[in-house]
Amino acid sequence: MRLAGKRALVTGGASGIGAATAERFAAEGATVAIADLNGAGADKHAEAIRAQGGTAVGLAADVGDVESVAAMVDRAWEALEGLDIIVNNAAIPTMGTVETLAADEWDRVLDIDLSSIYRTCRAVWPRFVAAGGGTILNTASVAGIIGMAGQHGYSAAKAGVVMLTKCMALDGAATGIRVNCVCPGFVETPMVLTYFDAQDDPEASRAAVNAAHPLGRMGQPAEIAAAFLYLASDEARWVTGTALVIDGGLTAGL
Ligand code: NAD
Repeated sequence: MRLAGKRALVTGGASGIGAATAERFAAEGATVAIADLNGAGADKHAEAIRAQGGTAVGLAADVGDVESVAAMVDRAWEALEGLDIIVNNAAIPTMGTVETLAADEWDRVLDIDLSSIYRTCRAVWPRFVAAGGGTILNTASVAGIIGMAGQHGYSAAKAGVVMLTKCMALDGAATGIRVNCVCPGFVETPMVLTYFDAQDDPEASRAAVNAAHPLGRMGQPAEIAAAFLYLASDEARWVTGTALVIDGGLTAGL
């Protein structure tokens, strides 16, 4: 029960890494608000957590929309009677280069994957200051620390997440706000499975991605949730501004 008494909001919590994080946080004693564009999926996951004995509510929210984000934070704060932890995890994948990525797709990926975090933090920051502190966790990516061919918008957004994390950590430290991010390698979630399905040879693509990780395989959502659990817990009370790489060794030799 490493998060007993804590209240957490997880965006993109209906699927993949967010779903595993919400589930693990609840299993460790946190009360969890699961927010997702897929509101029905968020409700269903909250119900599954409650069936396992946890405490969770689902919320429909679009992190790409200022008013929706404000309403998400209000509703989560009200439902959980405050918040201690926010996991800014919702994002979309986008393939494309400066040649092939249309300007509106560039704007969209930067908005959903980066500006949404600014937006959510802006909504919660004064409340954390008034409460004497809080923990902000962001899902970045190895794509934010190494160049990824063909992923110009996504990688630029994730690099922005890493730097926004560090800047917020510096400014939040004096008021008890810790800010960290996790940089996962490839993790077996619907986001990645959809990518494989779009390739000419999905099995070959999967095998190549597995082989790119020195530990021989992609990660599992629960392995990223474990990193978030550490960063959210009091064991990480002296950790802020860090970008924790969890990638099966993918970037170790680069
Ligand atoms: P996923 O597609 O399984 O889950 C993403 C969730 O975000 C979905 O439930 C989706 O409905 C939600 N979402 C998308 N747009 C939203 C919006 N505008 N408002 C609210 N919710 C929205 O993907 P995942 O792999 O679990 O990705 C989670 C995070 O991990 C993302 O930030 C992603 O960039 C990051 N990440 C994933 C991998 C990977 O290999 N899977 C690697 C590194 C980083």
